[in-house]
Amino acid sequence: MVENAQERTDAGANVNDAALTDVVIVGGGPAGLSAALSLGRARRRVVVIDSGEPRNRTAAHMHGVLGHDGLSPRVLLERGRAEAAGYGVRFIDGESPSARVAGDLIEVGSAEGLLRTRRLLVATGLEDVLPDLPGFREQWGRGVVVCPYCDGWEHRHDVIGVVATSPRSVEQAQLLRQWSDRVVYFENVVGAASGTDLERLVSRGIRIESGAVTGLRIEGERMTGVEVDGRVIDVGVVFTGPTMRPRDALLRSLGAATTESELGDWVDVDADGRTSVPGVWAVGNVVNVRANVSVSLGLGSLVAGALNADLVAEDVAAALRAVELASSVLASS
Ligand SMILES: Cc1cc2nc3c(=O)[nH]c(=O)nc-3n(C[C@H](O)[C@H](O)[C@H](O)COP(=O)(O)OP(=O)(O)OC[C@H]3O[C@@H](n4cnc5c(N)ncnc54)[C@H](O)[C@@H]3O)c2cc1C
Repeated sequence: MVENAQERTDAGANVNDAALTDVVIVGGGPAGLSAALSLGRARRRVVVIDSGEPRNRTAAHMHGVLGHDGLSPRVLLERGRAEAAGYGVRFIDGESPSARVAGDLIEVGSAEGLLRTRRLLVATGLEDVLPDLPGFREQWGRGVVVCPYCDGWEHRHDVIGVVATSPRSVEQAQLLRQWSDRVVYFENVVGAASGTDLERLVSRGIRIESGAVTGLRIEGERMTGVEVDGRVIDVGVVFTGPTMRPRDALLRSLGAATTESELGDWVDVDADGRTSVPGVWAVGNVVNVRANVSVSLGLGSLVAGALNADLVAEDVAAALRAVELASSVLASS
């Protein structure tokens, strides 16, 4: 049974500062909430700051999450918040604009002012930058999607359109052929597939449409076709490859080290979620492009365990120092 929050607060208080938290988590999506739940249950004083815009907010259903297949993403987060709150985790709505290292602590901006914390966990997700084409933003998460494992099954009987945004879109089309034998690859502004790419598309019976995509056909609320070269090609769904930009402004402002890859410049974390900045950790899509909901939940739990162990080590060191100090005072008296 859950104890009262005051008891947990007292139990975790190794530093004599009532306003001090053990962990501030910025970002209350699956990664941040999973970490918050574990840390709350570990009797840590935890505050989650969240601006309420998870990546999959436009999707009505979430798929491939064991035990929750088909659940609304919004409901998952509502349940997660309620569960974490039951262990004393406190929530502050709104964006955290800033963070800075202040000695052994970190100061984090919030709608309730500056929070002082022993550790900061950034779980702010990523932003999908969509191709600048009419209808794509409005249909995002419904008629226009990105992830075959999230939405492929629902469209297994449809014509699946793949609107290319980079040469890697050929791989997306090949992948989607696993779900439907009617895949149309729209070359769009990326240009004509050639060489082995072309051979591979043709070998799997993937139809190729050349020319720049100019929009979508919408009937009622539904997307039913892709406009290209003044024609409309019937499709049941469009998969595309947005540019994925980590929402890592806080991490960068703190000076976290990054590594350049074909996906861009991303903040480095070790296997436990530590960044290069002491006391600053990160988890989920902000540092891992492949973190779907299940992976984000799992990594949130993993990082919370490592973070708690790190705090325990600090608590032990502080206790040892206190014992040594008491011994030396006794010896000198
Ligand atoms: C359309 C779509 C559908 C998807 N469907 C599925 C699916 O069916 N199954 C699946 O497994 N995955 C799906 N995904 C992927 C899924 O959305 C991500 O894997 C997941 O959201 C990553 O979780 P996260 O906690 O890292 O980030 P997010 O869920 O994006 O959460 C980050 C949170 O941090 C907040 N935040 C950001 N910056 C700040 C700040 N400075 N201060 C305070 N708060 C901040 C945001 O508002 C947000 O609430 C889908 C993605 C898209 C785009």
